[in-house]
Amino acid sequence: AVDAALLAGVLMRTGEQPHASDVVNYAPFTLLPSAVPRALFDQAYAVQQDFNLLVDAISQNKEFLEQTLASTIKVDDFTARLFRIYMQVLEEGLAQTVFLGINRSDYMCDCGQDGTAALRQIEINTIAASFGGLTSRTADVHRLVLKVLGKTEEASHLLPNNPAKGLASGIAKAWELYGSQRAVVMFLVEEVQRNIFDQRCVENELWNRNIRVIRKRFRDVFERGSLDGSRRLYMDGQEVAVVYYREGYVPQNYDQQNWEARLLLERSRAVKCPDIATQLAGTKKVQQELSRPGTLEELLPGRPEAVARIRATFAGLYSLDEGEEGDRIAATAIADPDRFVLKPQREGGGNNLYGEELRQVLEKIKDSPERTSYILMDKIKPQPALNYLLRAHSPLQASECISELGIFGVYVRQGQELVLNQAAGHLLRTKAIEHADGGVAAGVAVLDTPYLV
Ligand code: ADP
Ligand code: MG
Repeated sequence: AVDAALLAGVLMRTGEQPHASDVVNYAPFTLLPSAVPRALFDQAYAVQQDFNLLVDAISQNKEFLEQTLASTIKVDDFTARLFRIYMQVLEEGLAQTVFLGINRSDYMCDCGQDGTAALRQIEINTIAASFGGLTSRTADVHRLVLKVLGKTEEASHLLPNNPAKGLASGIAKAWELYGSQRAVVMFLVEEVQRNIFDQRCVENELWNRNIRVIRKRFRDVFERGSLDGSRRLYMDGQEVAVVYYREGYVPQNYDQQNWEARLLLERSRAVKCPDIATQLAGTKKVQQELSRPGTLEELLPGRPEAVARIRATFAGLYSLDEGEEGDRIAATAIADPDRFVLKPQREGGGNNLYGEELRQVLEKIKDSPERTSYILMDKIKPQPALNYLLRAHSPLQASECISELGIFGVYVRQGQELVLNQAAGHLLRTKAIEHADGGVAAGVAVLDTPYLV
């Protein structure tokens, strides 16, 4: 299985040599595909275009973003800084006319008392949603494993899946509408790029279409990026049509210079994927406000069916804003912490609080404004299944695992006209049940392939 993964290009740089591609290893993955109920899988695909519309609508709704994030930005400095850039860019007036969204909506199958499973959204990632590249190659690995096990029939049921291609088609569309043959696509990447091969899968799809790609860090932009009189973005003398962020979603990504670089990019005419408004649309606070009765209807007027499909995926979400409503749910969670997850406004895994820790933190902040920087969510309880998690240098053992399904969405808008709106493929990540939190990059979850049942 490991050889097959290496052969297929399911790769990551190593922790020891995170800056070099001389010695690399396989990205962690499951030995076997995991069962996913077909009806829920289809449901997740069917709602993706609705989520694309919703995120795009939120990103254009200043009043909603302002109101929703008002309490959060008083206490959460990171969201506040993003918000300040957002306001600054709006005040100056947008130079950008083409908009590109790449997101991934993540779900777990919640197992009810009666044994039936329901699709429940965990979150939607509107910036730097990763693993669309590597997951385009994992199905081949699992197909081979099943064949070796004599499961040829089962192997033939594994679905084709190529998010890398879908994401690249969105980037290519945005590049084309930007309208300059000479202009390049810039991947904005982190200082440490262990997951570079995932990005290369998307990058190669663009080279295949004869679109030039450059990879730069905020630091490079600060030092050598510039805008011309009509706010066209230049990097080392090359015009940039699209900026695809694989960076910039956590406070640690920013120092003062990086914030300045971010502002420069946002002010530019280049297509940002995502623009700052769309990044804000992906905050946990926005997710929680969407679950309030009436909010979806306001954001998507005249689309009752889309609203119904979206709402059907929501778990219980609760505001911890100051006031009676927040007091009440905080008290409920302190009394019964295992029913909930406590989430700050952070991305990238490992930030949420559960169980006893949730109780202690909430106890401490329940009467302070800090409470407002969190939201509460019902805990989803998927049915565990046995699998082997293959990870370099770790012993092989069967573990009780749970899975999280992600659907990639991509859309392009030119002015007010949506010219592309698609589901672009899926990602299944699986982890041992003893880990409450954390993704593949965080070293907790591993890549998997859905086996529909
Ligand atoms: P992040 O932005 O850090 O990825 P998530 O909301 O995706 O934040 O939470 C991280 C992880 O925590 C998820 O991948 C999932 O494993 C777990 N998790 C999040 N919300 C819930 C929930 N409501 N019920 C159960 N597990 C959850
Ligand atoms: Mg997540």
